[in-house]
Amino acid sequence: MKDKIRQLSEEIEQLMAESHEHVEELRIRFLSKKGLIPSLFSDFRNVAPEQRKEIGQALNTLKQKAGEKINELKSQLDLGGASESSDTDMSRPAEEISIGSRHPISLVRNRIISIFQNIGFNVSDGPEMEDDWHNFSALNFPPEHPARDMQDTFFIEKGKDHKDQVALRTHTSSVQVRVMETTEPPIRTLSPGRVFRNEAISARSHCIFHQVEGLYVDKGVSFADLKQTLYYFATEMFGEETRIRFRPSYFPFTEPSAEMDISCILCKGKGCNVCKYTGWLEIMGCGMVDPAVLKNCGIDPEVYSGFAFGMGIERVAMMQYAVRDIRYFFENDQRFLKQFTPAL
Ligand SMILES: [Zn+2]
Repeated sequence: MKDKIRQLSEEIEQLMAESHEHVEELRIRFLSKKGLIPSLFSDFRNVAPEQRKEIGQALNTLKQKAGEKINELKSQLDLGGASESSDTDMSRPAEEISIGSRHPISLVRNRIISIFQNIGFNVSDGPEMEDDWHNFSALNFPPEHPARDMQDTFFIEKGKDHKDQVALRTHTSSVQVRVMETTEPPIRTLSPGRVFRNEAISARSHCIFHQVEGLYVDKGVSFADLKQTLYYFATEMFGEETRIRFRPSYFPFTEPSAEMDISCILCKGKGCNVCKYTGWLEIMGCGMVDPAVLKNCGIDPEVYSGFAFGMGIERVAMMQYAVRDIRYFFENDQRFLKQFTPAL
């Protein structure tokens, strides 16, 4: 009898069910009136009195175990059956996940950065709200210098004296001042960032735009280094056949100063309406860092020299992607933004 109970107990533990009908068969086999377990209970009357307690307990445990197992199998089938009968259609095509795209300004900025990183430039950052020293004075803009009027500025605090003025930075040259003040040359750095000028918003200009400025300071840096570096940039950025030319210009912080043009990327210099039939596109300002600026930033101009350059990222992006209106960059119109490289 004990062996029989043990054997049934093991069998019950192993039970698996494929369907509700199968579970019902198992229930009948083990637990129905004429099932295996009730028939053991019938045999119980033949058990010797001294074994009754032990075998009686074992029988009850077996019956309980069988009942629990049958219920467990039933509920397993119920759970499995729920998904079969639900509305979920596993064969349906998945809903499309739309992938965002990189903003054209980010694309162009990243491209410019990687071109200069290849020749050893690092990237530096600075505040968008700037004091007078870093935005103007250190860069050779004296208080009454007409150049200060050239840049219509958003002042945050006017102050009694120009030294107390706080403004939204009008260029990222302010970051270059911060780098020169804290870094021992050689310096090779790019400062990309947002700048602000109090200009009327039109198709060609905006009160917010982005700049990348570059600075190289070391012993014996000459205008030849500036030309070759910017020529390298132009050919990497706009294609090998790109030509460059320099026109004399004026900035308070560079001497000599120049504007650099590239041969028109659309007509290759033949003349078209984008380059106004000149064959050239104005791309950036540049020049040798004025010795007075180096001195202001604690660098000895007798020992060191350097060059600086700066360009508007929107301007480059407008040329590269043939965007006719600068305002598109700021409107967050999906129809415009979706035309650029997906952000993967
Ligand atoms: Zn052209």
